[in-house]
Amino acid sequence: MTVGQVDGVTSARRGRRIGVFGGTFDPPHIGHLVAAIDAHQVLGLDVVLLVVANAPWQKLGERSISPAADRLAMVEAAVAGRLGLEVSDVEIRRGGLSYTADTLTALLAEEPDAELFVILGNDAAAGFATWERHEEVAEMATLVVVDRPGTPTPIDDGFSWIRIDIPELEISSTELRQRVVDGRSVEYLTPPGVVAYLRERDLYS
Ligand code: NAP
Repeated sequence: MTVGQVDGVTSARRGRRIGVFGGTFDPPHIGHLVAAIDAHQVLGLDVVLLVVANAPWQKLGERSISPAADRLAMVEAAVAGRLGLEVSDVEIRRGGLSYTADTLTALLAEEPDAELFVILGNDAAAGFATWERHEEVAEMATLVVVDRPGTPTPIDDGFSWIRIDIPELEISSTELRQRVVDGRSVEYLTPPGVVAYLRERDLYS
């Protein structure tokens, strides 16, 4: 990745550089946070928004998803006090199924000069072509994949991507939920505020 590539893709806009890191965040964990922080630093972003999905339509039916209000509260706890990372409830306020194209449209309506960067992990990036109106997403934002070590994600969809290498943190929301089910601690895998919240709300147990 070079800064030249970034500027080449987004030369039309000159406002804040905003990273859009969307997720179900059920629950958020240090893998999410390290990806967001690395994207913030490497791309020189003003802010990375962790956008909490209201209804992640590709996951509906697979398992029960925690209420959006709980997932939002956990992400707020996860980033509390960390400059450069903010939580967005734009998809929750909009309600219904969460399509990133709608989210980017809403963000640009609020801040027309903003340069948007959609940040995705390997698996999410590999599935990008299945997204609703993904061509619109690619028009409104620069696409960024945070690449874990190993084989790079094959992305052959005709769009240009920026790749940022991040450390391998073999951790997933699925694993955290399973640990709670098994009565094992999730401390140090997610910030203390998240641990406290999911205990208080008795999530996943
Ligand atoms: P998630 O499971 O909560 O993950 C959020 C992001 O964190 C993903 O990009 C994920 O990449 C990444 N991640 C997870 N564990 C990681 C780790 N250990 N290290 C580094 N990165 C890690 O959220 P999701 O349900 O996949 O949703 C991702 C976003 O895609 C959401 O904003 C969703 O709305 C959007 N989406 C949009 C559409 C559409 O039609 N517009 C369709 C599908 C998804 P990995 O996937 O690689 O784990």
